[in-house]
Amino acid sequence: MSGTPLKKLVIVGAGFAGLRALYRLDPYSYHFEITVVDRHDYSLERPALPEVSMEDKPVDAVHIPIPPQMRKHDAAFEMGTVQAIDPKAQKVILDSGKELPYDYLILASGAVKDYDAIKGYREFGYSVCDDTEAKRLHERLKSFEGGAIVTGAARSEFGHRVEAPDLKAPCEGPIGEVMFMMDHRLREEGKREKSSISVFSPSEIFFEDVGDNARNPVAKLMQEHGITLSTGKELTEITADKVLFSDGSSMPCDLAIIIPPYKAPAYIAESGLGDDKGWVPTDRNMKHLDYDNIYAIGDINALAQPKLGHVAVNQADVAVAAIARAEGLSDEEVAFNPEVFCIMNMGGHEAILIYSNALYGGTYDMAWHSSLAKLMKLSFDEEYHFTHGHMPPDYAVKMLEDLLHHFGKTK
Ligand SMILES: Cc1cc2nc3c(=O)[nH]c(=O)nc-3n(C[C@H](O)[C@H](O)[C@H](O)COP(=O)(O)OP(=O)(O)OC[C@H]3O[C@@H](n4cnc5c(N)ncnc54)[C@H](O)[C@@H]3O)c2cc1C
Repeated sequence: MSGTPLKKLVIVGAGFAGLRALYRLDPYSYHFEITVVDRHDYSLERPALPEVSMEDKPVDAVHIPIPPQMRKHDAAFEMGTVQAIDPKAQKVILDSGKELPYDYLILASGAVKDYDAIKGYREFGYSVCDDTEAKRLHERLKSFEGGAIVTGAARSEFGHRVEAPDLKAPCEGPIGEVMFMMDHRLREEGKREKSSISVFSPSEIFFEDVGDNARNPVAKLMQEHGITLSTGKELTEITADKVLFSDGSSMPCDLAIIIPPYKAPAYIAESGLGDDKGWVPTDRNMKHLDYDNIYAIGDINALAQPKLGHVAVNQADVAVAAIARAEGLSDEEVAFNPEVFCIMNMGGHEAILIYSNALYGGTYDMAWHSSLAKLMKLSFDEEYHFTHGHMPPDYAVKMLEDLLHHFGKTK
């Protein structure tokens, strides 16, 4: 390869998707000069944020420092916020004015959590979606004496340029964790009797991204834990003592814990790379529909429905394989295989593992409520943290998937 200039590959975002893409590029590091850009010098382990709020997990334990990983994987790190992409000139433009030229660009900067879209959120609302918000809720819980808790996802909007399920809430798993973990915490503190837990969903079906075999066991557990559900409720406002919905109804509320609307980052639309709602439209190789050298993976991709780390990781594998093929480095193909895989912490020793591809007309759909699921969640979180964003080994994932396919088969 001596004498051949390396191809410049820029990854925007070092979350689940960006880190996975970087790690999967290892075999091709002789061919690419890789730069990773992130606005932070740490990667945030979002699935562990409910534990920061409700189980006293230190916020540092959900941060993975980025620079050491870059050195290890022969990539440069540029800390900064991407302000624009110039797809014709093939440049990433940072807020500092610095420009990064690229031959290939992988967009992996996730979804914006639009707290300000909900009136009253900054004063009265709480969330587990970011580290600052999770910590704020943790502080609030120290003085919470019990009362009416309302939790649910606000409505998000998605475009129509690619064919993907049109979900009203892109990820309701964290709401499942909030309702069960709050129930557990309040029982431990002796405050459950003076509290109510009410869940709302913008969709007509709570957990609309799975089928009945996964959803019904969750509904049964909600009943057993005295948690009530209202569907078809689009959150508009949070006040000191209630939450309000677009249909004119309201619920009394002392503590609102919500998932705000997910929005595509503004720089995507401003750079002419977005669909009608600003998400990045790609083919099933994660390649932009209009630009052959731009790929998008993770929450930012219009195909990523629901918006899950599990989907982000699969998309990273698909994109890296496609880029390697385009460069003639490999003929491996990785299929885009969207499915729901998440483990909802219920507090204490319990969790529910949800595994389903029913949304895509698939053949498995299951929920598994057990202490072993909790152990798996803790092991995954620890593994992800201590290996600095690596997933469990491929053979272990495959073994688990085979097992779950066997038990979760619907046809
Ligand atoms: C509370 C919670 C629990 C969850 N639990 C699960 C779960 O159990 N299982 C599961 O599969 N999924 C879960 N998810 C979803 C999962 O966390 C996301 O789908 C996943 O993080 C998406 O990865 P990403 O890399 O696309 O985006 P992110 O993880 O959001 O990473 C984006 C990165 O881009 C950077 N960035 C953003 N904008 C810019 C910019 N303009 N310039 C430079 N850098 C930028 C950010 O700093 C960040 O590091 C959960 C989500 C939440 C909120």
